Amino acid sequence: MKNICLRIGFIVSVLFPLIYSLACQVSTKTIKTGYYELSTGSGWNEDEKKIIEEIIANLDNLREKVNEMLENELPPKLKLVITDEGMGSTAIREEEKILLNAVHVRNLNLKDCLNRIAHETAHIALFRMSKRKIIEWENKFLDEGVALYAGYHYVGELEELNALSNKIAMEDFKNGKASLAYLRDWEKNVREKQRQFAEKWRTENSGKTPTLDNFITGGYRTYFTSYSFVKVFMDKYSLSQLQRAIRNIGEGKSQSEAFKMVTGKNLSELISEWHSSLSNV
Ligand SMILES: [Zn+2]
Repeated sequence: MKNICLRIGFIVSVLFPLIYSLACQVSTKTIKTGYYELSTGSGWNEDEKKIIEEIIANLDNLREKVNEMLENELPPKLKLVITDEGMGSTAIREEEKILLNAVHVRNLNLKDCLNRIAHETAHIALFRMSKRKIIEWENKFLDEGVALYAGYHYVGELEELNALSNKIAMEDFKNGKASLAYLRDWEKNVREKQRQFAEKWRTENSGKTPTLDNFITGGYRTYFTSYSFVKVFMDKYSLSQLQRAIRNIGEGKSQSEAFKMVTGKNLSELISEWHSSLSNV
């Protein structure tokens, strides 16, 4: 009896995990491009395989474009994992890794996949450029604003992004959600709403991709307001001045000092410029 128990114990504790991990390795494919190491599961249908092939064909060009845009801050290698975990896409900045939810591949929308990969790739560059400080809550509106720009710019849909973010930012100015205090209080004003949205979406709509409208009503509208600030700043000053402000933040300057060093104006003056330029649209 004792012997049988020992054998069962051996199978459960040693053999089963070993076989399981081997099986997982077999079903995960890793493909290397010049800059990316892409891991994806198997079990894709023919149309999905085609989308993955097109993603692979575009990856190195995408990386070069984002790298050019963000002053060559990207590391030489990035990991990309297409996974069923989480929702949407995420950058794990410390590991230089991007997760893209498989639902976007199943949706067969190549531009959406590339937009997301460029967006998350930009987050990794900004993280390095700011010496990690861009992920502090008060800087998140800059992080997301620039990442949205990178993603939409890469897929050639900036016009759509500009129109949408103008509209959202104007509404937000009316209801106080485009104030600097609101944008900088990202943890309180955005993060919790996103968490609730993701949880609700997963339980009620599993397997479906949220539409842009779903995202906007579900806690992501601040992303577009943030982009609106970034866009107006880039139009009046430049992307490279914005990058210099982000580098100044990385050197330990306060957000206000960082912008003043670059533009000679404090943040509330920049916010007023933003507001009046929106009113003139
Ligand atoms: Zn983002």
